[in-house]
Amino acid sequence: MKYISTRGRTPAQSFEEVLLTGLAPDGGLFVPESVPKVDRETMLSWKNLGYAELAFEIIRLYTGDSIADEDLRTIVDETYAVFSDPEIAPLHQLGEQEYVLELFHGPTLAFKDFALQLLGRLLDYFLARRQKHVAILGATSGDTGSAAMEGCRHCEFVDMYILYPHNRVSEVQRRQMTTIKGSNVNSLAVEGNFDDCQTIVKKAFSDQGFLPEGYQLVAVNSINFSRIMAQIVYYYFAALKFVDNNEAVSFSVPTGNFGDIYAGYLAKQMGLPIDRLIIATNKNDILHRFMSRNQYNLEQLEASLSPSMDIMVSSNFERYLFDLFDQDAQRVEAFVTGLNQDVQQVSEQEWERAKAVFDSCRVDDETTCETIRDVYNQYNYLLDPHTATGVKAARECRGGSNNPIICLATAHPAKFSEAIEKAGLATPALPDHLADLMQREEHFTVLPSSLDAVKSFIQDSLKASD
Ligand SMILES: *Cc1c(COP(=O)(O)O)cnc(C)c1O
Repeated sequence: MKYISTRGRTPAQSFEEVLLTGLAPDGGLFVPESVPKVDRETMLSWKNLGYAELAFEIIRLYTGDSIADEDLRTIVDETYAVFSDPEIAPLHQLGEQEYVLELFHGPTLAFKDFALQLLGRLLDYFLARRQKHVAILGATSGDTGSAAMEGCRHCEFVDMYILYPHNRVSEVQRRQMTTIKGSNVNSLAVEGNFDDCQTIVKKAFSDQGFLPEGYQLVAVNSINFSRIMAQIVYYYFAALKFVDNNEAVSFSVPTGNFGDIYAGYLAKQMGLPIDRLIIATNKNDILHRFMSRNQYNLEQLEASLSPSMDIMVSSNFERYLFDLFDQDAQRVEAFVTGLNQDVQQVSEQEWERAKAVFDSCRVDDETTCETIRDVYNQYNYLLDPHTATGVKAARECRGGSNNPIICLATAHPAKFSEAIEKAGLATPALPDHLADLMQREEHFTVLPSSLDAVKSFIQDSLKASD
């Protein structure tokens, strides 16, 4: 299995290279040269596998000969052993043909654990083999930071620096980062906003000369293909429960950076019987504008009650465009970079092709709260605000179809109390393993919003750890 860049100027790479870099050197994103197909018979033989066993079968199709089967099996088993629910990703029924797939039973209570717990272990495996150290640098406005730190805090060959906007993340989110034990993880509170953090990270990646000899930076946001790969598994895990009745299922996905739903798109390409993929957005609705009007343009970013979906431009959408444009890398680049000047559109046929797979719905804060309340009153089940946008979108997009719709429950409601309280409900307690979060000791460093300050912090810290 080889990976190519959506910008077309990077030679094909192995899985190991893709994992260890993240972004392609030409500025593009890595995608599989061709998506592995799984025939129906093989798929049916997976029906009764446990989550980790299924993950092994799917992931090995993407890691190719980068990693031996027995090693991969161990890594995958260890990864999903840290989840608190024996099913790992339990499916919960709400109404008729309406389900939620609970993806919040990992250490940090959001679906990002599925990929980042695996990524940390894969990194350590490859780096130990190479006897090489790397530094992870990332910016977070919420869930990615803690999930990445939890995933990598045991990694012997990884030092980690996570930037977040000082005083601008929720207390639970901040404490999930700043209370993590691990001498290799560093929470850096930058005196600026999330965009400032991201700009610093991007600049540091494009000029890595400040790192000590032999070090390189690794990106762990969802541009790293290994994260997408891990997320394909739960689409299979859920849809396999319905294959007996020959029913194609639809998925409704609370969407920000388009990583999670792109994994669903790959599952469909692999042969999983998926009917529709529903893109749920909040008021930051660039993807909904594209799907409903064929207009892809920038608008002001607004803070919402579902902060992990507050994204102006979804970086993984580029991966889908590469496919939609039949791997024409020049068109991808023109479309993506042209966004800064003009409204972008695709041809009528391309738009039809996109609409044959995806549906979309924009759900504002008020409707999000209404949905949380309605579902609680109907089914005594509490949704987090991100998941609520997905449930609402599923209801809006059902149309005449009577197929099962599975809504991805991307976070635990205890993480996002503001929306729950606005819905007039009581915030549930944090699960046992985080029950004392508010009493734990915090560790973080406040830095000015400057590239140089971040660079020197990393230099000093890497020297100290040598
Ligand atoms: C990251 C996140 C999302 C958005 O996922 P993308 O892969 O960026 O589309 C949705 N909900 C929650 C809770 C998240 O943490």
